[in-house]
Amino acid sequence: MDLKELYRDVILDHNRHPRNFGPLEAASHHAEGNNPLCGDRLTLAVRVNGDRIEDIRFEGSGCAISTASASLMTEAVKGKDRSAARQLFEKVHALLTQPDAAPDPALGKLAALSGVREFPARVKCASLCWHTLNAALGAGHATVSTE
Ligand code: ZN
Repeated sequence: MDLKELYRDVILDHNRHPRNFGPLEAASHHAEGNNPLCGDRLTLAVRVNGDRIEDIRFEGSGCAISTASASLMTEAVKGKDRSAARQLFEKVHALLTQPDAAPDPALGKLAALSGVREFPARVKCASLCWHTLNAALGAGHATVSTE
């Protein structure tokens, strides 16, 4: 199996079986994200304790890329503190926007999103959940749109 197939399998798996999907009780932060270009809608609920993302779950409906990306994102940031989550966001952003950049080893499974670069129209699908996380952690309650 080559790397491309591996990445595709990760995306398919997280789309079919999204992790951390559903409502979150006692959330401290919320945000809604909307990608009108594709029709992706996402609600993020986060429970922050001190500086740590104690729990995070998402709801909504969208294309395979947006669902898989949100699933991978929640797995990646759960248990991390805000600054570590922000660093991951920057690495994902670089991965999605720099065509020749090799995936940073710190990305782990998030490297699977590199396949999205071949489809520029889908980059917003993949980054929606990250912008929504930023909004949730920044304002406590916010709505973001990719447009
Ligand atoms: Zn989409």
